[in-house]
Amino acid sequence: MAENILMQKIISLCKRRGFVFPGSEIYGGLANTWDFGPLGVELVNNIKQLWWKRFVKDREDVVGISSAILMNPKVWQASGHLKGFSDPLVECKKCHSRLRADHLKENFNGKCPQCGSDNFTEERQFNLMFKTFIGPVEDETATVYLRPETAQGMFVNFKNIQDTTRLKLPFGIAQIGKAFRNEITPGNFIFRVLEFEQMEIEYFIEEGDWQKCFDQWQSEMEKWLLDIGIKKENFVVREHQKEELSHYSKRTIDFEYKYPFGQKELYGLAYRGNYDLTAHQQDLDGYVPHVIEPTFGVERTILALLCDAYSEDGDRVFLKLKPSLAPYKVAVFPLLANKPELVAKAREVFEMLKTDFTCAWDPRGNIGKRYYSQDEIGTSFCLTIDFDTLQDAAVTVRDRDTAKQERIKITDLKTALKEKLA
Ligand code: ATP
Repeated sequence: MAENILMQKIISLCKRRGFVFPGSEIYGGLANTWDFGPLGVELVNNIKQLWWKRFVKDREDVVGISSAILMNPKVWQASGHLKGFSDPLVECKKCHSRLRADHLKENFNGKCPQCGSDNFTEERQFNLMFKTFIGPVEDETATVYLRPETAQGMFVNFKNIQDTTRLKLPFGIAQIGKAFRNEITPGNFIFRVLEFEQMEIEYFIEEGDWQKCFDQWQSEMEKWLLDIGIKKENFVVREHQKEELSHYSKRTIDFEYKYPFGQKELYGLAYRGNYDLTAHQQDLDGYVPHVIEPTFGVERTILALLCDAYSEDGDRVFLKLKPSLAPYKVAVFPLLANKPELVAKAREVFEMLKTDFTCAWDPRGNIGKRYYSQDEIGTSFCLTIDFDTLQDAAVTVRDRDTAKQERIKITDLKTALKEKLA
């Protein structure tokens, strides 16, 4: 399938079925903002919960925090973001479009994507932090920034966490939260947006252990990608060259995903040395720990998952999402909506399953359409209650990926579904 066609199909499915809506749509939208709809938010929550369980709850060496988005501007001064968190900006002299200089070269062959001109202003550095003001007076002393990364919340709380948890090196602090960047050339659906969520860990170590820990986190990140269902052939690891390293980093790799619009960063893994804790004058009995930072973007995860899961079989569209991520695990229908005895039995089954599994209830339209409709949103199994059910107390269970059907006794359903969904 042509790649831009695939992207169009995914965007349209997301809108049609309530995964992702354009932000502020009824007012003509606000470029590069998006809202997660009823199914999108389930997918997002499933990802965040899986991540938190795996990297915080199941580990003894990582604790979580949730820090404020607004921080004292001195944080950004000390961290180097006020000076260094910028991208090179150029402006087309003909149509005045603004672009990131590196994107102009990489993506557009040096030509303005709006008017085709190759006449641009000199590069100037543009700081990506959104600025706002506290209180009624909009002057410099009242200026604050929306955080461009969650990481600093972990660094400035280092001592608090030490004092309250007494964790010994190596240990990590994790956070899931919003970050904001005034991107110059956003776009590609939810790939590059102005506000997004990061799932980040600052993993504090002794300096001498950094290579070992870096390798461990690289393999943890790979395992995570495979476990959420991203195919191995669809992502690659790319080492940052010296000149592209961020101001704080001694080594960085990107996990790049092969999106339909090109191979681009999905996640990053950086060795930040002891740059940040030194900047904030935080130490551990005189020693300033070094830090490894695995960072995972929520929106880019969702997009990679949708691209990986999108499948077609003739005119059947299905999302091959892992059951742990699918917004609904099970859908329950009566074969015919106008037969009260079938509806009543189906409701009984639905009520029995709804607390253990996230279930959809859909009595409308013909059965084939309902199957297609559930396939398209990734529901793992459809259960149909038909006239035979009233005799044999069994239901038809249909598998999303193979479309194969089998009969299972209602009394065995919970156990059978648990096994299938594991
Ligand atoms: P890029 O090179 O694509 O601008 P970056 O190197 O600036 O990204 P990081 O600073 O490493 O990104 O941010 C950590 C993670 O946050 C990224 O790996 C990505 O998943 C996510 N992320 C960063 N910027 C955006 C954005 N504008 N929209 C959505 N997700 C983002």
